[in-house]
Amino acid sequence: MRTVIETMRSGIDEEGIRRAGEILRRGGLVAFPTETVYGLGANALDETAAARIYEAKGRPSDNPLIVHIADWEAVRKIAADIPGEARLLADAFWPGPLTMILRKSDAVPPATTGGLSTVAVRLPDHPVARALIRAGGGYIAAPSANTSGRPSPTKAEHVARDMDGVIDMIIDGGDVEIGLESTIVDLTEGTPTILRPGYISREMLEGVLGTVETDRALIADDADIRPKAPGMKYRHYAPRAELIIVEGQQEQVRRKINELAAENAARGRRTGIIGTDESRDFYIKENVEVKSIGSREDEGSIARHLYGILREFDDSEVHVIYSESFETPRLGQAIMNRLIKAAGHQIISV
Ligand code: AMP
Ligand code: MG
Repeated sequence: MRTVIETMRSGIDEEGIRRAGEILRRGGLVAFPTETVYGLGANALDETAAARIYEAKGRPSDNPLIVHIADWEAVRKIAADIPGEARLLADAFWPGPLTMILRKSDAVPPATTGGLSTVAVRLPDHPVARALIRAGGGYIAAPSANTSGRPSPTKAEHVARDMDGVIDMIIDGGDVEIGLESTIVDLTEGTPTILRPGYISREMLEGVLGTVETDRALIADDADIRPKAPGMKYRHYAPRAELIIVEGQQEQVRRKINELAAENAARGRRTGIIGTDESRDFYIKENVEVKSIGSREDEGSIARHLYGILREFDDSEVHVIYSESFETPRLGQAIMNRLIKAAGHQIISV
């Protein structure tokens, strides 16, 4: 299959959106930018189209898809009932990086929800995404547009790496703004519960709803507790190299990383280091590739560059990567949730 690239870095191209919408309406796949990461879109109400997403990504079929809509009213068709909390959250955070789990209506086929009786819904804050959703019929299932298990795409080039020749079209909207997937909150069982941390923090949700819980599987970090978001149990976001996080007091972390990097480099293993603008000059450079993920003064920059940096290390073919830990004030939980998964839970505390 030939994958068409449509460039919309400086805004919507109506003709391109029309062509993309047509592809979606006849059951094809179109990758598109959102404010979080690039999504791989298909008509969420068409069983066969949704099934194609799983095939293109190599995604396990029990891992449900998020349905993207372009207007609040669209919720009515896919949700069996709409709790008051959903309206409150939509008023506060939609369009935006928040996904709500609601009870599903019969309009949503089981292929889209991995067989669950609930449906995940999000209204993204990106003009190209919303125009495409409307052009494609209003209900677009869109997981991250990467091969299952790899780091999520934050640029169209990342999508092309994984999906060229496999999907019908990629819309290039330039670099994404946030760089981490949406926060997922479950509204179907008693107290609203966070199933995946993201840009919208627990404090922000509590500001609107009062008490909000966090899925125990996220806190306990225990393989025996089954996460409520089926996708959270899989190894994810992983670079090809072994990735090890070093956590602790910053100066000790830097020293430990240098020590480990020197050992590895001496053994002829190509070594990478993930530091920050503040720390990069402290690291040894001989036979070691040091990259800054962003600045600790700007946690958004760390979130934005996380996946891209993991992919860059794939290109430089290092064997092992040591990363600092980024427990930043507002986004730290979301950043570390992804980084720890990418590292397959390998953490050294100093
Ligand atoms: P991605 O599409 O890559 O952003 O991943 C979507 C995430 O949403 C996965 O972790 C899914 O398990 C989760 N998810 C989607 N639908 C549901 C649902 N109905 N209930 C719980 N989690 C869901
Ligand atoms: Mg994903």
